[in-house]
Amino acid sequence: MGLEFVYSQPVKIYFGAGKLKALELILEELGLRRCVAVCDPFLRPRLEELRQRIPAICGLYSDIQPNPQLSGAAALAALIREREADCVLAVGGGSTLDTAKFAAAMGGGEAPEYFRGQRAFSTEHIPVLTAPSTAGTGSEVTQVSVMSYGREKKTINHPAFMPKIAIVDPTLTLSVPPKTTMNTGLDALAHALEGFWSKNHQPISDQMARQAIRLVLDNLELAWQDGSNLEARTNMSLAALFGGLAFALPKTAGCHACSYPLSEDYGLPHGEACAFTLDSFVRLNADPRLEALCRELGLSGTEELARRIGAWKKLGGLRTRLSELGEVDLGKLARDSAAHPLMKNNPVALDEAALVRMYVALA
Ligand SMILES: [Zn+2]
Repeated sequence: MGLEFVYSQPVKIYFGAGKLKALELILEELGLRRCVAVCDPFLRPRLEELRQRIPAICGLYSDIQPNPQLSGAAALAALIREREADCVLAVGGGSTLDTAKFAAAMGGGEAPEYFRGQRAFSTEHIPVLTAPSTAGTGSEVTQVSVMSYGREKKTINHPAFMPKIAIVDPTLTLSVPPKTTMNTGLDALAHALEGFWSKNHQPISDQMARQAIRLVLDNLELAWQDGSNLEARTNMSLAALFGGLAFALPKTAGCHACSYPLSEDYGLPHGEACAFTLDSFVRLNADPRLEALCRELGLSGTEELARRIGAWKKLGGLRTRLSELGEVDLGKLARDSAAHPLMKNNPVALDEAALVRMYVALA
């Protein structure tokens, strides 16, 4: 069979240092007059400032936790209704963006009904504008929202979550601390690699993945060393954007499948949870195609890529062994990883026994 694919990327992207300053113009262009803004708590002063300048911002919500809780989405949805907003602007990390995406897509029902799948999200809703403050999740260009309700955490993939606008302003990432820079940068790398090796990979996404991986190789350490290096930050914002585009259609695979039990049961932040097994998956998924990509990117092969990832984790102070996670239920961890739907996208079939072997090597 010949080559065949469908590609779609509906988000309008504004990229550049200081781009958030163009917000008023962007709102005007879209005819939007009542914007509720949501941001990470530490960004609140910056958003208050923006609100002083832009009268269209009619509400501000910033009670967002690192693993976003459904209660935040419910409160934001209530604020959107109360202010009769015609759009929502999310400025922050993945948690803030995912909260805005979830809240905007809720119709009149209660948040838990949407979380449990008892009510359908509405694709006809007010536009979501996103401005990521970390270089990692790629949430600004995907229809994914990761949401927690109590201890239950779900990754929901739904067309209703697609933002309308992404404003990628690398200056927003300048204050990100080194460890988070490393976590989120490795998440971006995981998106690119998983988009590339996902069973559903396709040519345009592959090109995005290539560029993202190249940018991470050349810039992650620089951004980690010196957060004020705007060129490195800009390149990492671009890497995260390309990483998002690389997996938006093919979806992620085994490494992300494993990240969910690692986050839920052992509290690892998303990027650190992905990084935990990323080098293992580079080795497990090594095939001629990945070898060729590594050589094209100036590496000696997949083994060098795996070693680089391992070295970055150590450099950034990320946890790399199960013994650092407290008491680990290896059987459950392997079982939950194997059962995660994303594991089906992995190019190499890995059952519970294979995952036990992988985790034992990380003991
Ligand atoms: Zn991720």
